[in-house]
Amino acid sequence: MKEWMLSEAEGYEILAKYDIPVPKFKIVTSAEEAGDVAEGIGFPVVMKIVSPQIVHKSDAGGVVTSIGTKEMAQAAFNRIVSSAKEYNPDAQIEGVIIEEQAEPGLELIIGGKTDPSFGKVITFGIGGTLVELLKDVTLRILPVTEEDARLMVREINSYPLIAGYRGSKPKDEETLVQTIINVCRFFEENEQVKEFDINPLRLYESGACAVDSRVIMTEKKKKVKTVSRPDVPLEYFNPRSVAVIGASDEPTKMGYAVMHNLLHFPGQLYPVNNKRDTIQGLKAYASIKDIEAPVDMAVITVPAMHVPKVVEECGEKGVSIAVVITAGFKEMGEDGKALEERIVAIANKYGTRIVGPNCLGLIVPPRGLDTTYVHQSPKPGNIAFLSQSGAIVNTVVDWSLAEDIGFSAVVSVGNQSDLNFFDYLRWVERDPHTSAIIMYIEEINNGQAFMDVVSEVTKTKPVIAIKSGSSERGSQAAASHTGSLSGSYDVYMEAFRKAGVVSVHTLTGAFLAAEMLSHHKRFPVGTRAVVVTNAGGFAVLSSDYAERYGIDLITLPPDVVEELDKFLPEFWNKGNPVDLLGDASERRFEQTFEVLAKHDDLWDMCFVVGFPNNILNSEQMANQILKLSESTNKRVICSLLGGDSMNRGRKILRQHSIPSFEELDFTFRVMGRVLWQQFRVKAPGLFN
Ligand code: ADP
Ligand code: MG
Repeated sequence: MKEWMLSEAEGYEILAKYDIPVPKFKIVTSAEEAGDVAEGIGFPVVMKIVSPQIVHKSDAGGVVTSIGTKEMAQAAFNRIVSSAKEYNPDAQIEGVIIEEQAEPGLELIIGGKTDPSFGKVITFGIGGTLVELLKDVTLRILPVTEEDARLMVREINSYPLIAGYRGSKPKDEETLVQTIINVCRFFEENEQVKEFDINPLRLYESGACAVDSRVIMTEKKKKVKTVSRPDVPLEYFNPRSVAVIGASDEPTKMGYAVMHNLLHFPGQLYPVNNKRDTIQGLKAYASIKDIEAPVDMAVITVPAMHVPKVVEECGEKGVSIAVVITAGFKEMGEDGKALEERIVAIANKYGTRIVGPNCLGLIVPPRGLDTTYVHQSPKPGNIAFLSQSGAIVNTVVDWSLAEDIGFSAVVSVGNQSDLNFFDYLRWVERDPHTSAIIMYIEEINNGQAFMDVVSEVTKTKPVIAIKSGSSERGSQAAASHTGSLSGSYDVYMEAFRKAGVVSVHTLTGAFLAAEMLSHHKRFPVGTRAVVVTNAGGFAVLSSDYAERYGIDLITLPPDVVEELDKFLPEFWNKGNPVDLLGDASERRFEQTFEVLAKHDDLWDMCFVVGFPNNILNSEQMANQILKLSESTNKRVICSLLGGDSMNRGRKILRQHSIPSFEELDFTFRVMGRVLWQQFRVKAPGLFN
């Protein structure tokens, strides 16, 4: 697509329309005019060459600053034009721009880029020549509210430079916020602007001034209309009868493994195979059309070239949903893509919906339905897991068995030829068995539509995402500073955050977050925390982790310390984390929790970190934690550290949906991610 860059004057003109402060300027075409115009603007002025062929004006000797008189301006005109001609004899010279010389100030950057998935993104941070080195920037996806703009200003690390650092006077934060809002409006309203940098924007004690701008334009894109799709009826995922097309008795075949996992299905099961009379002990049919009774779901494992015919037969049979496990479609190139389009077209004709192809299929444990070839079917539970990778589904299911985690649904989405992430999200959103949703995402094509759907879902159910590809950060070819400052991974993180999705790094983290958010209290209402422990070493580690992951450990006020002093041993640390010492009894925990519950206006979450010993068993500890949780509206999270001796306590807590984690670092990290989603907390270790 054709792209071009606006000249400096064109850039200033359009920015000025949006009340973005730019220097006064005028383009002149003679030395004489230069003198008069410079005088009109007011000295000192800066003069620069205007030529479409000269992008880096300084390199061409095309910039002169600190011009203080009319004569100097006339001389500068001649010098600039002759230098430019010498630099590039073919350059077309449109004149010389004369502009007000801006005072030195705090150099910031406001930039914009168009993300391929999520659209227009705005970046703000420290500018000048050190932008790439400092990388002190933050971003938002448009539209941006005034509140967002204020937060952006405050969340960069160098914010103290704006607020006034070491005796320097505070800068004009209000003008900065308004300028960011105006820049967003400029970006939103000018569809053809693809990418831009205002770098630097100089910020003063009063006012601001954009000193350079690069605006990259692109041809108007044809708008792709997104058609809203009706929800897939829930009963499609709750079939009464399933046919396996390509069912086999041969243990090495996919059709064997799939059939094998479906043997537990409590509804009707029909193997389809035109070479045998029975498969795995059940009567086999030569074609799905030979089955006398209705078939709700078909699971297809035949080779790709036979799939169109099989889908046609499914349609004729009135199958509502066909799970195409077979690979060899879009992922294999053009021919595969054409084949895939063909099966979708056939299915559409009959109103049959397609899962996959090139997928593991669906597992709905509460219904005893498993169309996949996983080693062992997962247990029923309340987590829905939607995955763009089949291999990850295999791993997660295997791991869940050892961890005693159950699922309401597991979906390997495959090529998403027909049913896609949105449809599955809508399903599990309405599914009464699901209380939390985990997504493993590699790539999202229609980011805006994704955000619309997921924003709705997160209103009622927690959604957690693992996005692969964090290493591609900043690897995009970048035409501007903004392009290189924010990679697509950062944009995904921000998109998730904005849509209410908690993003995590690891599968374990995803399940911990799901557990944490499945509790009816869901999110903490703030970032303030207390830690109570009977383990001094873990008290120190807790402080480290809290700082690393953006959790604020409060300072206990003197009256609270005094209250605790009444019953705690003389040598307690009198601070937060509250170290109850290794000989802490059940009573000591109980009394401490009572004091904290009474003062729960001071904190938003309480971490209880316990280790096993002979004075206090894990059940006693769990019971006290339960009591604390019931006596406050604030969140209680625990880490019961230790081996099997803690299991009984963990079980009690799990029964009451109080998250209890076995690894302390994870406890804080997962909470940090939750807080980042809610408050965009700043934390050095959160994304490393
Ligand atoms: P280029 O980047 O094409 O060489 P610029 O327009 O960025 O040209 O100008 C070069 C430098 O001159 C700027 O980085 C800035 O330091 C200074 N400068 C340019 N315009 C102004 C102005 N209006 N006020 C103050 N300084 C300016
Ligand atoms: Mg420049």
